Amino acid sequence: PTDIRLPELSLVALVGASSAGKSTFAARHFLPTEVLSSDFFRALVSDDENSLEATGDAFDSLFYVAGKRLARGRLTVVDATSVRPEDRRRLVDLARAHDVLPVAIVLDLPRAVLEARHAARPDRDFRPEVIGRQVAELRRTLRGLGKEGFRHVWVLRTEAEVDAARISRVP
Ligand code: ATP
Ligand code: MG
Repeated sequence: PTDIRLPELSLVALVGASSAGKSTFAARHFLPTEVLSSDFFRALVSDDENSLEATGDAFDSLFYVAGKRLARGRLTVVDATSVRPEDRRRLVDLARAHDVLPVAIVLDLPRAVLEARHAARPDRDFRPEVIGRQVAELRRTLRGLGKEGFRHVWVLRTEAEVDAARISRVP
């Protein structure tokens, strides 16, 4: 099983298409207060976690809180798709600004798994093509994560790998 050894003070990017299991993984392995999810911040600013129109304000708020947490030395997990290099760039910049390590846990599951999950979700009503585009964008750019500045990159590719992964925190 993948042993994810997280530096005590890191900015953890959970990377993966919608329905990859980011929020489920975050709830299993981290404190609720350690996890900043883009959906939660969309809801905070707009009362609608699916409001794409609120994305700018949601991320401004998320990054503001993330910066405050990192300044206080608190490990912080960002639960957003982050499949595009430009989305991840802002995470790396924030980590660097606070002298903490940016690391990535990538959930790169088969597209068929994501589409089946998506179809069963009442809370996501967009077309499944969106997931296909996110998967393609992630796979196109996945090899570049180290160059983007992520100091560790762990990639989990199956449901079994995700479920078996262990996380420990190292000084
Ligand atoms: P989004 O980007 O849309 O928020 P997400 O990556 O946060 O998606 P989750 O909400 O965690 O995805 O999971 C989507 C669905 O997949 C959920 O309904 C959940 O039950 C199922 N799921 C998540 N992780 C697993 C897993 N490890 N094994 C089986 N099913 C899972
Ligand atoms: Mg989620």
